[in-house]
Amino acid sequence: MKAISVLGSTGSIGTQTLQIAEEFPDQFKIVALTAGKNLDLVIKQIETHQPEVVSLADESLLPELSRRINNLTEDTKILKKPLLMAGAEGLNTAASWESADLVVTGIVGCAGLLPTLAAIEAGKDLALANKETLIAAGPVVIPALKKSGSRLLPADSEHSAIFQCLQGTPWSDTARLSTGVPTPGFKSIQLTASGGAFRDWKAEDLAKATIKDATSHPNWSMGKKITVDSATLMNKGLEVIEAHYLFGLSYDQIEIIIHPQSIIHSMVELDDSSVLAQLGWPDMKLPILYCLSWPGRLKTPWPRLKLTQVGNLTFKEPDTKKYPCMELAYSAGRLGGTMPAVLNAANEKAVELFLEERFKFIDIPKVIEAICEKHKCDLNLNPSLNEILAIDSWARKEVLDYSGKNITRIAVSD
Ligand code: NAD
Ligand code: MG
Repeated sequence: MKAISVLGSTGSIGTQTLQIAEEFPDQFKIVALTAGKNLDLVIKQIETHQPEVVSLADESLLPELSRRINNLTEDTKILKKPLLMAGAEGLNTAASWESADLVVTGIVGCAGLLPTLAAIEAGKDLALANKETLIAAGPVVIPALKKSGSRLLPADSEHSAIFQCLQGTPWSDTARLSTGVPTPGFKSIQLTASGGAFRDWKAEDLAKATIKDATSHPNWSMGKKITVDSATLMNKGLEVIEAHYLFGLSYDQIEIIIHPQSIIHSMVELDDSSVLAQLGWPDMKLPILYCLSWPGRLKTPWPRLKLTQVGNLTFKEPDTKKYPCMELAYSAGRLGGTMPAVLNAANEKAVELFLEERFKFIDIPKVIEAICEKHKCDLNLNPSLNEILAIDSWARKEVLDYSGKNITRIAVSD
């Protein structure tokens, strides 16, 4: 029985993790949950999983949560009231919860950084969904992993595919840490991308893209932020940096390839020209399950992949003009140090403002480029955690300033 702590239990990754725990009650037990504001869902999750600790992002919701849990205990729907916590302290406590063997990081954005580090310091293995943490703080997370011996198992479907392809090879433990040393025999990886919401749009039409357009993904059902990242293809750019840190690859060894059917989840090319791929329906439950069951495999009743039903698998080069975010991510990754943190924070804030209708879709890459450019003269190649946190705040503020100026410009030109 593996004990699991789920950070972001009410989100897309979190709810799918809990579904898996329900499907395999003899294998997995949920001991800790953290969530944002969705109290109704949290209550249901507490009733179903009976965790030992629950933390909410917002402390002001704790009295209501406590009252509603008391009702559950009185109605004997749960045996024991969990410890209730809130805010950063609650997140860190849940992430380092003593009885947990593995922490699923389903929080969105850099808010996952401190709890991820808390889990690593406590020696927990991690199922990494929260890619923003590794991208922003690779220079801190990777040494912390080396020190603690925690294993970083990729939950992102592409990185899970690479990890699955590497099982049984001499490099099967490369998902543990980045060594920075080129691995003999391992040539490159190809990350597949669906092409996101706008894959069939002409570049000139993107100026008209609405929130509804950008949050309707053709293949995957995910949280809003990552769905917008898929529409800009920043998600794929972020995944390039994620792959660099997870597998210790240079940026020249990581390619992006558009594969609209999302059946091949990524590929590894070896020096002898052999290519290994992992296939499956576009469903995040499989990569999450693999993190939970690794190194084993569990038998599932899930729909089997039928390639005859899929018919065609097609591939094409990504359009870098239509999707400038990919190149921005490669450049930030190559510069290294604090630059990926700036790219990530600028993107998070720009997407947030886009979702609040304060920013146009096509302005997202423009603002990210402007802020990365501004940071070049202050680039810090070996940042500490505090320096990363400071640069993250700086970049978010810069996006806000930019949006103020931009709104004025739009108003004047209109
Ligand atoms: P989501 O928006 O559906 O869920 C996010 C969860 O985090 C929610 O439970 C929310 O309450 C919680 N949360 C958000 N901000 C918080 C804060 N400040 N403090 C505490 N809790 C907070 O997001 P998602 O789609 O599940 O994505 C989660 C992460 O997984 C992201 O980093 C994303 O890039 C990654 N990921 C998601 C998918 C997917 O299919 N959804 C696939 C690959 C990777
Ligand atoms: Mg992915």
